[in-house]
Amino acid sequence: MDDITKSKYLKAGKIASQVRSEAVEMLQEGNLLFDVAEFAESEIRKLGAKPAFPVNLAIDTIAAHYTPHSDDPLTFQAGQIVKLDLGAHVDGYIADTAITVEIGTNEWKSLIDASAEALEKALDALRPGILVRDLGTIIEQVIRSKGFEPICNLSGHSLEQYNLHAGISVPNVSDTSSDDLKPGIAVAIEPFATNGVGRVAGRKSGNIYKLLRLKELADPELSQLVKDIHEEFNYLPFPERWVAKQVDKSDKKLKKLLRQGIVATYPILSEVKGGIVSQMEHTIIMTSEGAIITTK
Ligand code: MN
Ligand code: MN
Repeated sequence: MDDITKSKYLKAGKIASQVRSEAVEMLQEGNLLFDVAEFAESEIRKLGAKPAFPVNLAIDTIAAHYTPHSDDPLTFQAGQIVKLDLGAHVDGYIADTAITVEIGTNEWKSLIDASAEALEKALDALRPGILVRDLGTIIEQVIRSKGFEPICNLSGHSLEQYNLHAGISVPNVSDTSSDDLKPGIAVAIEPFATNGVGRVAGRKSGNIYKLLRLKELADPELSQLVKDIHEEFNYLPFPERWVAKQVDKSDKKLKKLLRQGIVATYPILSEVKGGIVSQMEHTIIMTSEGAIITTK
């Protein structure tokens, strides 16, 4: 990794970390999920980066891929376990980070600690060339030692320019992968813990989309929208909220693009047995001297 690339990863990480700290203060009873997501995304832009994906606010049994809709009425309620997951990029070089908090109560501290400690132990073990499966083993052991289950079908992931899931997975359980983290790689590590069985599934689609291909369309307004999405997000995920600011009837227009195979949508992922889910995430870049946590 050259110095310019490294400095972009570090800048994205610093911004993501700052915005995470600011946005976490807004996770309070009565606040709109919409306001938190919009604040965090505008703050990322203000600080000189762009959102790498829509701010995810996953509550209780939801593990990932919930972002508020443009007219979303949901507010945070006491007792909820909220995962705040956000990403910033500088010229496509991404920082991806998440934190879990409990709103107003303290019933789930051990569940939150389980994913936090799993992440800490995985970060402590990092060295050039470490096998990703060794990180999976550490994460699984820490979470199980606390009496919870790691989520086996969610994992950390390598990052490349404008690519959020670049091919290498960092598992949250022991597995047989022979991939390792060589100097020059960027990865997000994200343990998930649950009191359920440790698996997620997606049923209904959410408010997160991504562009699949850039194509001229018969409808000039839709054609322009596709160009604008590409200009603003490239092929990274984007929210319906952003489209609603550009055009009327955003849902209808996105459904049209979906039917024509121009965009795809992400299903909201929930724990299959209704378990409560916690998550912690940092992004690192590996150097020959060791790992640098960009989102600390
Ligand atoms: Mn994330
Ligand atoms: Mn991630």
